[in-house]
Amino acid sequence: MKKRTTREITIGNIILGNNNPIAVQSMAATKTTDVDRTISQINSLHDAGADIVRIAIDSKKDCAALSIIRNATQVALSADLQENYRILKDIAPYIDKVRYNPGHLHHHEKNKSIAYKVENIASIAAKYNLAIRIGVNCGSVDPVLKEKFSDDVQAMVESARQHCEILENIGFRNYLVSLKDSDYNKVIRANKLFHDMMPEIPIHLGVTEAGMPPEGIIKTRIAFEQLIPIGIGDTIRVSLTLPFEEKKQEIYAGKNILKDITEGRFRSVPTLFNEKINIISCPSCSRVENEVFIDLAKDVKKLTQKMDKKLTIAIMGCRVNGPGETDDADIGLWCGPSGVNLKLKTKLIGHFKYNLILKKVEDIINSY
Ligand code: SF4
Repeated sequence: MKKRTTREITIGNIILGNNNPIAVQSMAATKTTDVDRTISQINSLHDAGADIVRIAIDSKKDCAALSIIRNATQVALSADLQENYRILKDIAPYIDKVRYNPGHLHHHEKNKSIAYKVENIASIAAKYNLAIRIGVNCGSVDPVLKEKFSDDVQAMVESARQHCEILENIGFRNYLVSLKDSDYNKVIRANKLFHDMMPEIPIHLGVTEAGMPPEGIIKTRIAFEQLIPIGIGDTIRVSLTLPFEEKKQEIYAGKNILKDITEGRFRSVPTLFNEKINIISCPSCSRVENEVFIDLAKDVKKLTQKMDKKLTIAIMGCRVNGPGETDDADIGLWCGPSGVNLKLKTKLIGHFKYNLILKKVEDIINSY
């Protein structure tokens, strides 16, 4: 194993980077406002060995829930922000880390620069001793960079670099970066490129929307096996689509992969692993609009198990990331409260009730 070259950062009581152990993370999938269920899920993840647990915070009601949740858990808490970065000032006393997505800072307050918004986040983080994660996702990359680069991996890396530059310029050092995609090959390439460029910046590794076990674990394992032995990766998350009560499987999977890598056990991957139907599905979070989404993901997997086509089907749990994160798939499904939006590549085909969507998907696959 190559020695890591990253600087140390602190997240609550946890020190990451350099020679410190690789921390394992997960995210609560329950509605943040459902305080009892969220506390129970966070503590079950903590009991399973999670070092850090992330929660989606989108509204004032989520902020109020967070203040109660904070008092009911010892785990390091990370808040996941979407467009509304201004909410950070209300939640900073209750968290240890904040994650923002550079691609989402473009939507609100278009008259303000991205640097202004990042500096605002950093000044609050500095005041409350928070760590920041610059969380770049291929499916929601900064629209300006998407336009500029034909290679989306290059766009991701440049987005991360620009945001590091903003933080470095104002002297904020307690941060890390993630560069995620549902394609493990892109995750490997993006992280190698970024690490070559900025070897001192700690990295959070993950394959986003990896899908259900076992495929989701295999995709993640492939990426981790290629990166961790060469000193890339200070913290990890295995993102799996699972029923809420089984979320701790993400932690067990992450720990198993780390143990195998440390002890030199690497898995061979069947040659045709990615040659059949590839299902991408989000790991779900508080933003899921209808829990039926998880059953739909399972049903699509069952439906396609014996089909011999080379297709990618993406299934996402909400309207926040669903529209963008399904763009690269042949068939995209993003779930709303009472039905599912169906896309073929970037084209929206229609909105279908949950009880009708599976048949529609089957017909479309058969027509390929
Ligand atoms: S797609 Fe939506 S529901 Fe799924 S993890 Fe992302 S934000 Fe959460």
